[in-house]
Amino acid sequence: MSEIIIPLHGLTKGGQEFDYVLDDSFLDGFSHDVVESLECGAHLVAEQRGGWIEIRCRLRGKARVVCDRCLEDLFFPVDLDQTLTVRFDAEPEDVVNDDDNIIILREGTSEIDLAQTLYDLICVSLPMTKVHPEGECNPEAIARLSKEEELLKASVNTPFSGLKEMLKQKKN
Ligand SMILES: [Zn+2]
Repeated sequence: MSEIIIPLHGLTKGGQEFDYVLDDSFLDGFSHDVVESLECGAHLVAEQRGGWIEIRCRLRGKARVVCDRCLEDLFFPVDLDQTLTVRFDAEPEDVVNDDDNIIILREGTSEIDLAQTLYDLICVSLPMTKVHPEGECNPEAIARLSKEEELLKASVNTPFSGLKEMLKQKKN
């Protein structure tokens, strides 16, 4: 399980800095369903403000995903600045909070693990449609995929057409 621990007690005045590397071992704590590979630096500054704590997050690096069209590697830059607010409450589960950037913890909590929060920030920052720019997909992969798709369609349409196709290919 990946951990990005930030202490919440005794933070120095003016903000305390924390640096983490978010790489493949960080990703191992998650399901790898979106990001295949990650090379990213996380610079976090945690500062006590009145009764709450502000955590400024700066993420810089790149994420590798799979192209939805050709299934080859596709890189996206990670370039994120996000400020999180940590608030405290005696009954945190009773507090209505629909802001992802506000985290409510039980009073007296001494540290926070931001691994899931940072992972979510990265995933949300990636575009919904993950494809290479037009014309930059691997043409061999596209050709192979469309052939497989045709075979699949043929075998779905009639029970024997796919088989016929396979036999035809064997003969050739
Ligand atoms: Zn592609």
